Amino acid sequence: MNLENSRELYDRALSVLPGGVNSPVRASIQPYPFFVERGDGGHVIDADGNRYIDWVMGLGPLLLGHDLPQSVESAVQKQASAGPMYGAPTEIEVELAEFVARHVPSVETVRFVNSGTEATVSAVRLARGYTGREKIVVMQGGYHGAQESTLVEGDPDDPSPSSKGVPDSFAEHTIPVPFNDTEAAERVFEEHGEEIAGVLVEPILANKGIVTPVDGYHETLRKLTREHGSLLIFDEVITGFRVGGLACAQGKFDVTPDVTTFGKIVGGGFPVGAIGGRSEVVESFTPSGDVFQAGTFSGHPVTMAAGLETLKYAAENDVYDHVNALGERLRSGLTDICADQAPEYTVAGTDSIFKVLLTRDAPVESESHCESGCEQRTECARYTHCPKTGADVAGTEIERWNRLLWPAMFDQGVFLSQNGFESQFVSDAHTTEDVEETLEAYKDVL
Ligand code: PLP
Repeated sequence: MNLENSRELYDRALSVLPGGVNSPVRASIQPYPFFVERGDGGHVIDADGNRYIDWVMGLGPLLLGHDLPQSVESAVQKQASAGPMYGAPTEIEVELAEFVARHVPSVETVRFVNSGTEATVSAVRLARGYTGREKIVVMQGGYHGAQESTLVEGDPDDPSPSSKGVPDSFAEHTIPVPFNDTEAAERVFEEHGEEIAGVLVEPILANKGIVTPVDGYHETLRKLTREHGSLLIFDEVITGFRVGGLACAQGKFDVTPDVTTFGKIVGGGFPVGAIGGRSEVVESFTPSGDVFQAGTFSGHPVTMAAGLETLKYAAENDVYDHVNALGERLRSGLTDICADQAPEYTVAGTDSIFKVLLTRDAPVESESHCESGCEQRTECARYTHCPKTGADVAGTEIERWNRLLWPAMFDQGVFLSQNGFESQFVSDAHTTEDVEETLEAYKDVL
C-alpha cells in the first residue's frame, strides 16, 4: 500500500507537533500514523487516496457517519454563515438543552462546554462544591479525559497519579475501586462515606475493553451515594446517545444518576461536552450558584446546531435499530471467528460498540461463570467471553495489537481503533457489506 504522503506529512508534523499529533492515541501505531484527507459515509480516504472502512468514527461522535444528512449540513452552514459565535446566548443552545432534558432521565438542567474532559472536570468541581466534600470515587480502568482528579491509579488505600505532572495531593482525594465489585464500593463508603463528594463512573467501561455492569452494580452505587449524601455521576461521554438510544445508558440500565456528563455525539461531530442533572444540583454552577464554571466557546452555536439536528435525525429515523443490528452482527460474527481461530480472544461490546480484545486467557470460560448482565451474553449462543472488570482485560496483548492485528487489518482496508482497549463504533452510514467485508478481514488476519 502506498503511504508516501502520510509518511511525509508525519515527518513535517514531528517538527511542529509534540509526537507529531494533537492527541497521543493517534500515534500509537508505528512506524507512523496515516493522515486522513476526507470521510465518505462509513469510510475514510487517506492522503495517498487509499480507502478504509472506518470503525473509529472520530472516536465515537459520528453517529451518522461522515456524510451529514442534508438537515444537519444546512443547519451547520446556516449557523456558520451567520457568524460563528457571539459571547452572548442564542436560541439554538436552549433548543438543544430542551431536547437533552426531554430524553435523558437524569437531566433537568444542562451546561454545555467544549470537551468531555471539560465536562468531567466541571462535574467533579460541582460535586465538591455541592456537597462541601473532597473525595471522588472512580473505577480502576475507567477514563474521564485528561484531568488531574481522575488520572489516578492504584487501590482505594494507595492511589497515585497515573501521569507525570499530576500532584500527589490530587491523588489523595481520589479513591479508585474495581468496577462491578459491590463489596469494594461498600467498604469504601463504610470507611469514607462522610468525605465522598461523588462517585464518577462510566455506565460501561468503554475505554478499557468494554466492560458491562453486572446486575445490581449501578443500583448499589445509587443506594450508597443516596445513603451517604454523595452524588452519583454517570460519565456518558461515550455511551450518551449511543448505548440505550436517546435515553442513554442510564435509560437502558434504569438507574438515574444525580449528574451526567456528555461529549462526542451531543455535538454532532464538533467539539462539545455537557454536564446535566437535577436542577437543584446543576444550578450550583455560576451564575445561579457559586461553583465557578465558564467558557468562551461554551454553547458554540455551530456545535449546538450540529448536535440538535443530529439528535433530531436519530429520533426521526431508524438510526439506533440500524447501528445496533450491525453491531450485533459484528459481535456474533466475531464470536464465531474467534471460537474457531483464536479462542483465547474476547469479543466485547453492546448496542453499536464492539471490540476483539487480544486477551491471553479469556476472562470467562463458561456460561456458569458468566455473571455479566450484558446483551452480548443473553443474545450469544455460547457467550463464553464477558469481561467483568478492567483487570479481566488487563492482560490484553497491546504489542500484538499495535504490531500485528491493527496493521494487518489496515492492510485489508479496515481502520480499527488505534488503541487495543478502546471501543469501536458503528455509524448509520455503515452497510451490511462493510460488516461482512470486515468479518472476512478478521477471519483472514486472525
Ligand atoms: N469521558 C469518557 C468516558 C471518555 O471516553 C472520554 C474520551 O474519550 C472523555 C471523558 C474525555 O472526552 P474528550 O476527549 O472530549 O475530552
